[in-house]
Amino acid sequence: MKRKFLPVLLIIFVLSPVYSALAASFEENSPPDLMKDYNVLREKIRQNPRDVPALNSMGILYARSGRIEDAIKLWQYALELDRSYVHLYNNLGSALKQLGRRSDARLIFQTGLAISNSYWIHYNLGLLEKEEGNIVAASKCFKKALQLNPGFQSAATRLSELGYNPTYPPINRVQRPMSVGSYKPPVSIDEIDLKPMYPGGDWPEKNTSYKSVYGKSGRNNFARTFNPLSQASCTQIIADLKAPAKDRYIALTFDDGPHSTYTPEILEILRKNQARATFFVIGTRAEAYPDLIAQMARQGHAVGNHTWNHKSLAKSSTAEAIDSLKRTSELISGLTGKPCMIVRPPFGHTSQRVKKLIHEQGWHEVMWDSDSRDWENKNPDRILYRVMKTIAPGSIVLFHDIHPGAAGMLQTLINACKSNGYRFITIPELIEIAAGTS
Ligand SMILES: [Zn+2]
Repeated sequence: MKRKFLPVLLIIFVLSPVYSALAASFEENSPPDLMKDYNVLREKIRQNPRDVPALNSMGILYARSGRIEDAIKLWQYALELDRSYVHLYNNLGSALKQLGRRSDARLIFQTGLAISNSYWIHYNLGLLEKEEGNIVAASKCFKKALQLNPGFQSAATRLSELGYNPTYPPINRVQRPMSVGSYKPPVSIDEIDLKPMYPGGDWPEKNTSYKSVYGKSGRNNFARTFNPLSQASCTQIIADLKAPAKDRYIALTFDDGPHSTYTPEILEILRKNQARATFFVIGTRAEAYPDLIAQMARQGHAVGNHTWNHKSLAKSSTAEAIDSLKRTSELISGLTGKPCMIVRPPFGHTSQRVKKLIHEQGWHEVMWDSDSRDWENKNPDRILYRVMKTIAPGSIVLFHDIHPGAAGMLQTLINACKSNGYRFITIPELIEIAAGTS
């Protein structure tokens, strides 16, 4: 087929009435929220049929819903547009392998390597060699991947499965690889429970001066009606916390993403303010938006594990929970180049069993103490009000970057904190403070 027909074919293909069929299969296999991206991506591709990252993401949606052949068509088309987009070789090769087309898969990986010396492609080629019993070739691939990205846990794990002991580069005490079994989280299980990790293991002091701003209801009673808070009021609320200078830090956290629209908005606000945050991402979504995960890491944010598909860990079997967390952790470390050591259980559902399985991997369970409930009411004024009522020095604030609200109030919150000398730190930094190492 001549290349000029491809965009036309693609448009027909993408706009075909597949939504209900895809939605039905997604209900069972994946979190329903990923399916919501279908319309967003379709619109992006309609506006720009050469949007390669969007085409790549759309292919993931098709593959996830079981339509591998269609996904392959999309990725092949995208590769015509941009031969240097590494994720396409990985996705295409893995899909071909899944269909049993192993020599085609090998060819795709080798073509990709000729264009880009990518650790992901070395890794995927290694997997193919391993499955075919070519142990020496496989170990070479995994070693190469690890050499290019020393934080790539998956490559280290596969290599040790082949009987090699990969040596890790020196990393600081928080970013230990998961294979180090002796590592114990600095905050004990009992201290975390359903409370957030908090320096000293206790809740922040309640400050009575809030009544001057909120009226008699106090911090913890949320009125149905509220007056939008001005920038000046917000700045005053933070000033009233009267924290010692050393305790003036806040950890902003964003769950459930990445999202193709809202995550870039939040990243841009954080960049303009030189503020750092932590994103607890879902594996299926991270796989669909690999560029956003890499961007988070580039901008100095931490990327945490929010499971593969947002299924409650407390309601999963231990084996299922570990699989979901490991798969996500390995994906994140591959995309960021750093081991991923922090886990936020979906819905905040946890138990002694869940904590144990997280800690046994050497990871930290991370909750929150200030809840924006931005999924419930998407009015930015309302979200701001709720955060200002619950925030305290050292708070872990919970947002969701798959909803539009947070981006609308973040600047006001950042201004209020910054003008009072607060820093925005990541969860790994908070853990270091909690452990008394900085
Ligand atoms: Zn969540």
